[in-house]
Amino acid sequence: MSDSVHVVPADVHNQTLLNHVHPHDWVSPEPPSRYNLVVIGAGTAGLITAAGSAGLGARVALIEREFMGGDCLNVGCVPSKALIRSARAYAQVRDTADYGVNVPAGAAVNFSAVMERMRRLRASISPNDSAARYRGLGVDVYFGQARFTSPETVEVDGRTLRFRKAVVATGARAAKPPIPGLAEAGYLTNESVFSLTVLPPRLAVVGAGPIGCELAQAFARFGSEVTLLGNHGQILPKEDRDAAKLVEKEVVRDGVNLVLDCNVARVDRDGSEKIIRLRCGGRSSDLRIDEILVGVGRAPNVQGLNLEAAGVEYNEKEGVQVNDRLQTTNRRIFAAGDICSRFKFTHAADAMARIVIQNALFLGRAKASALTIPWCTYTDPEIAHVGLYEDEAKERGIPIQTFVEEFRHVDRAVLDGDQDGFIKIHVRRGTDRILGATVVARHAGEMISEITLAMVGGLGLRTIAKTIHPYPTQAEAIKRVADAYNRTRLTPFVKSLFSKWLAWMR
Ligand SMILES: Cc1cc2nc3c(=O)[nH]c(=O)nc-3n(C[C@H](O)[C@H](O)[C@H](O)COP(=O)(O)OP(=O)(O)OC[C@H]3O[C@@H](n4cnc5c(N)ncnc54)[C@H](O)[C@@H]3O)c2cc1C
Repeated sequence: MSDSVHVVPADVHNQTLLNHVHPHDWVSPEPPSRYNLVVIGAGTAGLITAAGSAGLGARVALIEREFMGGDCLNVGCVPSKALIRSARAYAQVRDTADYGVNVPAGAAVNFSAVMERMRRLRASISPNDSAARYRGLGVDVYFGQARFTSPETVEVDGRTLRFRKAVVATGARAAKPPIPGLAEAGYLTNESVFSLTVLPPRLAVVGAGPIGCELAQAFARFGSEVTLLGNHGQILPKEDRDAAKLVEKEVVRDGVNLVLDCNVARVDRDGSEKIIRLRCGGRSSDLRIDEILVGVGRAPNVQGLNLEAAGVEYNEKEGVQVNDRLQTTNRRIFAAGDICSRFKFTHAADAMARIVIQNALFLGRAKASALTIPWCTYTDPEIAHVGLYEDEAKERGIPIQTFVEEFRHVDRAVLDGDQDGFIKIHVRRGTDRILGATVVARHAGEMISEITLAMVGGLGLRTIAKTIHPYPTQAEAIKRVADAYNRTRLTPFVKSLFSKWLAWMR
């Protein structure tokens, strides 16, 4: 096993993390003659597949070249959400005067303490994904780069593993934009930004998608002078425009310098400074900063797997090709998670892993297209979404009716000072069947699950209207949308019938 895997800084927290996710003294097991399942990649998709399959009695091998837990635990969801929570703590103290509370010294961020907190919490979560825990679950854990040597064998750490079925769950990494001078000037990605111990005084964030927006807002709150660069007319270009506009307003209030509709033409170095040469329409300008954080999308980890030897088709942009049952072009080999999905989320990787267990081991017929996948961007306020967007419905010729409730009409939101936000629910026109929803609110991610449950369970707005929501809660917004739908059922004809009945009863 290689000793070349490090996490910086090499403090006690990162040492604990490493002991769990890549112990340096790990001894790989001796492989049996054949495994039911060989899982390549120990991120969410691989971990769930391995644990679920071993729990059902399968002989399972799990191969990881770097850190068990993959992106989410090590360089994704977990560290980013820890930083976001510290950033929110700062914003809460900054805004206390609005609540009648004066904090005499004001708010100040100790960046090194913020990062240490993140490392401590990440380490404290890491036993869940640890090599030792998986060995305890009956999984054979191997560290090293996996490489197919035939349609039914994988090589790792000098050993050949023969399999009945295999799963490629190798995830994705930060895409490298082809910007001249960027590599020479040096830049951060999600793989390095969580190793910082000193706050960059001036930070440019290239890419205004979810990762860029979340981290730009957090670093601005920590005190960096942040410029967020996007090449569309709005941040979070895939999200509902009104929702993105609200987040935009808040991010600007946090001090982020938003530069939209611009491209980075090249990057130069001037001593310790970096210079971003921008082109916005016909105009050029320069931006001088100390660090650049790049978050312009994800590239699938297909390299080094020797997929050709296994007959698995792939491309560098979309990753491994799968059918609806998550089977690759080699019928024995499946894929799950970021490597094969446009839904690059931990919960999507988890859901796909469950499909793979059924289909690979038990002749199941579960389909990825049957999944209803919500998601959330953890800016403040958050944007959560599930199902169709308005423009998608239009493009697909699906007639919809949209109901909107603003949080300024929801008592709890008003009392909490969280009235900037709204919920939009789209139903199939003429029915109460929910086709999609967007929530923009401080805890939008917590609210989207009620709507997702309704969609999965085939429950419409009429059922939600009958569901009692405690007063006062933010989730009352969902009930208010359902009430608004119910009011549309009160047509002039029904109303005139009611009036006649009530007149007769007088
Ligand atoms: C900054 C950031 C924040 C995020 N925040 C969220 C969030 O809040 N919520 C959310 O749902 N999602 C979030 N995501 C996305 C989430 O992290 C991914 O969707 C998730 O990790 C995908 O899991 P996976 O198992 O498909 O891949 P990964 O987690 O990438 O795991 C793949 C594993 O395979 C290993 N591997 C690759 N090639 C080989 C090989 N040849 N041999 C052996 N091992 C190999 C890799 O080392 C890696 O450990 C975030 C991502 C980033 C970058």
